[in-house]
Amino acid sequence: MNNQKLFFQKKGCETMKETISKVLEANLRDWNDWCWQMKQKSICSDFSNLSALGLISPDVKEQRRRVGLTPYNVKLLLYLKESDPQGYDAESLQSFLPSGKNDEEHQWAWARRHDLPSSRFWVRLPVPRFFKTLFTGRGSDTEIQTLEKMYPHTDVLIATAMCARHCSFCFREVGDARGEAARMTGSMNAVMNAVQAIIARKTPHVLVTGGDPLTRSNQQLCQMLAPLVESKTVQVLRLATRLVVDLPMRCYDEELLAMLRDFAQQMKRRHASFRIVTHINHPCELTLEAVKALENIQACGIEVMNQTAVLHGVNDDVATLRKLLMETDRLGVRNYKLFHSMPVKGTEKLRVPIRKFRELVSSLHQWLPGTSVPPANVVTLVGKMPVSPSGRWMFPIPFTNRILCRSFRGEWYLFKDIWDIGRHLREAMVLVTVVLILTVLPLAKLSDPVSENRTANQTQSITRVAMLADELGYPDAWARQRFAPFVEGNTLYLPLHGL
Ligand code: SF4
Repeated sequence: MNNQKLFFQKKGCETMKETISKVLEANLRDWNDWCWQMKQKSICSDFSNLSALGLISPDVKEQRRRVGLTPYNVKLLLYLKESDPQGYDAESLQSFLPSGKNDEEHQWAWARRHDLPSSRFWVRLPVPRFFKTLFTGRGSDTEIQTLEKMYPHTDVLIATAMCARHCSFCFREVGDARGEAARMTGSMNAVMNAVQAIIARKTPHVLVTGGDPLTRSNQQLCQMLAPLVESKTVQVLRLATRLVVDLPMRCYDEELLAMLRDFAQQMKRRHASFRIVTHINHPCELTLEAVKALENIQACGIEVMNQTAVLHGVNDDVATLRKLLMETDRLGVRNYKLFHSMPVKGTEKLRVPIRKFRELVSSLHQWLPGTSVPPANVVTLVGKMPVSPSGRWMFPIPFTNRILCRSFRGEWYLFKDIWDIGRHLREAMVLVTVVLILTVLPLAKLSDPVSENRTANQTQSITRVAMLADELGYPDAWARQRFAPFVEGNTLYLPLHGL
């Protein structure tokens, strides 16, 4: 992190275009002004400027989905390119959509469900609901504009479609007029209608997200958050923002900090919680600026929580995740969710297999204290699904209180558990089922008339052996069919093919 200090004293790249060069060498007053940073997005996201800086190849064509970078993001990319290739790879993967044939389509199935004719057609089909859910999930209720409801006690308010950076893995497809966030978000009037709806239906948990809500002005934020803070029904209010790492200057704004402090105190007085949820995926995002932003929020008495998406090529190795979780832990940020990257079309290259995701979670538990490792989830269209870190490595020994465990380092250990009646009942049921199957199958065989006949005759003594075809006068072709030897009277009949 100390190297990053040096970076911000560093002069701009000599070969860069004049306009972007001027932007990157702006004075500190402009640099620390988040509105100024947002205004420079069009210059900093221009492909020819980015290729002049050597951040993308000159052959890369404009993508259907826009890239969105602020001067701060560009400077970070330049710094990482020179000093930390691994960090640069991670940042560039998060900033630019990987090239591939799926670039044309960058959308999560979730977004499709509610506003496309095919979704409506599927919903109206006269097939059982279970069947529809199995294939399409249930998605979130979006009947009220800017409001989502996936869980019974949580409302999600889409405060805006605007973000500082357009993350390449994001399912909201921000910065694109066809994107989900853009379709869902409306004017401030629509947002305020949704706020009133949340209060009217007395939802206890509210998540304000977007886009990034902190890209709204202080006045607009106050307008939408104040009624929620004052409402006695809202018990936990979470404000989700990535500006802490994408545009930390937003959290240097004294007016914003004073407002957030006031909100936190108001909620605390009525025994409720106001939290900031951020989203950090790689340790390289924790620059000195980002750390200052985190500390400014914490100084307001607000708990900061972090969620991390596991992305291929960004952080899908134990060393990177361990470093990230340790750094956030050190900064007093509660890591509350580690999630498998969402199934967004066009971002398959950023996804890791579930098997690998589980292995990573298992490994993290071997390296870090429990307080540092957040619960792991897979996000589906029926909600979050927990991913067990331990299941793969624990084999219960039936009818004992012992469990055979294998550690990440490959060590085996016979763990002594307490007696678990529930487990033993299940084991007993499995055993009874197996015994029943093993006894019923032979009985079924015995009920076969040929077998019964054979068993009855086995009690008699055999005095004669005869060829089946000859003795009974069967034609050859028929006699050569598969017969088992059988006993009738005192004679053992053998089929011809058995000779
Ligand atoms: S900041 Fe959040 S909402 Fe915006 S693009 Fe990134 S992940 Fe998506």
